Amino acid sequence: MKPVVGIDLGTTHSLVAYRKEDGTVEVLRDREGRALLPSVVALSPDGVSVGWGARELINNPKTTVVYAAKRLMGRSFEETAAERAHLSYPVIDKNGSPAIPDPERGRTLTPPEIGALILSNLRSRAEEALGCAVADAVITVPAYFNDAQRQATKDAGALAGLNVLRIINEPTAAALAYGLGEKKDGLFAVFDLGGGTFDFSLLEIRKGIFEVRATSGDTHLGGEDFDRAILTEWLESDPGLAAKAERPEVKDILRKEAERAKIALSKTSEVTVRLPSLEFSTTLTRARLDTLVAPFVSRAFHAVRSAMQDSGIEPQAVDGVILVGGSTRFLRFREAVAEFFGKPLLDSVDPDLVVAEGAAVQADILSGRRKDLLLLDVTPLSLGIETIGGVTSTLIPRNTTIPAQAKELFTTYVDGQVNVDIHVLQGEREMAADNRSLGRFTLSGIPPLPAGAPRIEVTFQIDANGILEVSAREQTTGQRANVVIHPSYGLAKEDVRELLKEAFSHAKEDFELRLLVDSRTEAQTVINATARALATVGSDILDERERQAIEAQTKILRTAMEGNDGKKVRDEIRTLDRLTQPLAERLVNHSLTEALSGKHLPEIPPEGGSHA
Ligand code: ADP
Ligand code: MG
Repeated sequence: MKPVVGIDLGTTHSLVAYRKEDGTVEVLRDREGRALLPSVVALSPDGVSVGWGARELINNPKTTVVYAAKRLMGRSFEETAAERAHLSYPVIDKNGSPAIPDPERGRTLTPPEIGALILSNLRSRAEEALGCAVADAVITVPAYFNDAQRQATKDAGALAGLNVLRIINEPTAAALAYGLGEKKDGLFAVFDLGGGTFDFSLLEIRKGIFEVRATSGDTHLGGEDFDRAILTEWLESDPGLAAKAERPEVKDILRKEAERAKIALSKTSEVTVRLPSLEFSTTLTRARLDTLVAPFVSRAFHAVRSAMQDSGIEPQAVDGVILVGGSTRFLRFREAVAEFFGKPLLDSVDPDLVVAEGAAVQADILSGRRKDLLLLDVTPLSLGIETIGGVTSTLIPRNTTIPAQAKELFTTYVDGQVNVDIHVLQGEREMAADNRSLGRFTLSGIPPLPAGAPRIEVTFQIDANGILEVSAREQTTGQRANVVIHPSYGLAKEDVRELLKEAFSHAKEDFELRLLVDSRTEAQTVINATARALATVGSDILDERERQAIEAQTKILRTAMEGNDGKKVRDEIRTLDRLTQPLAERLVNHSLTEALSGKHLPEIPPEGGSHA
């Protein structure tokens, strides 16, 4: 077994999950049975620790406790200025990137290195829980993460010894955990309210393709704000307590109490807090908490409204709302969400675990174990082969959902050609040389027939892992050859974008050049077939006048082929076609008829280059 796990690398908590053979998803727990791992790394004189223990060291003056490193991930030092202002640990500028000093070990750690420490911890946890080595993983990121942030997350995975098969959006993962895409299509809102961030996304799911229609949110809105609001109220009501809370460890105790009270209020309507050591005791009601939280609710809905407006979608058009993040247990938020969309809430999956569970679903799909599942991905660039004249013949256009399959018939270009050279290409350009070469192979053993007669079926097949297999089969003999390619590997998102940009900017000249090359190829085919026909027929089929007209037009066509005007070549082909029409009708030889009528298949050159 080679398991693929799903990882939610969160701002406050991280988790790892795995989908078992029977289809159920299990969130993997630590030895103490805890599913969540605080995304906290402590750099202390005794060593580096991660998770619950690290979090306890927050007030230890000899220790640097790094939390919320996700906020720094893949961003430049300058870009993180606002974030750094909120962090209590030092962040320095290391060649333009943020880095955290670890003086004990005489080094600095970058955000991906911090992420790697968290991921390593989850990886060991998974290995222990599953009883085998774990390397392959899917990691989630917020939908708004840009390429640099995604790449940094991938780097963190690589540093942790993980083979990151894919980075997927958190809202997409949440939807997957609810079986959307596999069983159900539609428009879904994902409302993710965590410890320190609020992310709202609108997802459109059609035939297994997930499209993020809009995102918005607030990078500084979450459960910690509510804890702070409760704490502030306590401190304002009790000056003695406020004085004691000058000490960070006291403040920390109070903050934890505030969180505990808040969490209790999602189950009861009133909670009493007693802290005898601080001579403090108070009662908090749900009604009072709702009042304290009201400004945050309006801030969240401000973001929701702007996303809906940007997308031009009415709240009523949304088919369901998925709740993600610990803070959506907050009853006031649930009511507000239900009211805004007027739709039932999808909340049967634990909001703390839902993203990791969805990542595990995607991981399972990528493991290729389940052939029945849809894959939620598309080909980033078109795939095809090179045909005569160095042009690209596309079999699978870009943005095709995978797994995918395409078949097309090709033929030979030269009389008696016994092999074809299949050159597999990726890209949007018309000319093969401008596209990316993915590989090539030769199909030999083709029976020696006139050019255009053999039927060579080329099949492109992309499996759930994005692996492309190209095969070619000659239909009369059944002779086969194939090649297996990993097309998406080594092609970064930026590369794809760059290639697309190039294709667009060259579209017109590419098109004209292709037209010219195709016309020349077609002209050559028609000339060859005509010559062959003229050589085989006598005056009983073709009279002298007709023959001379055809020969004269062939000469005109040859001259046109030497020029650069594709349209002129096409016009001359059409004229020749008209002249040979009576001949074609009188001929019985099927392959000649087809060649003459111009309705031929695209040709593939023989091994060792093209044509005569
Ligand atoms: P993140 O995605 O940012 O890592 P989480 O999704 O783990 O965050 O959410 C953590 C937040 O959820 C914390 O602020 C926690 O207090 C809050 N939370 C957990 N349970 C409840 C509850 N029952 N009611 C209100 N808030 C809760
Ligand atoms: Mg989260």
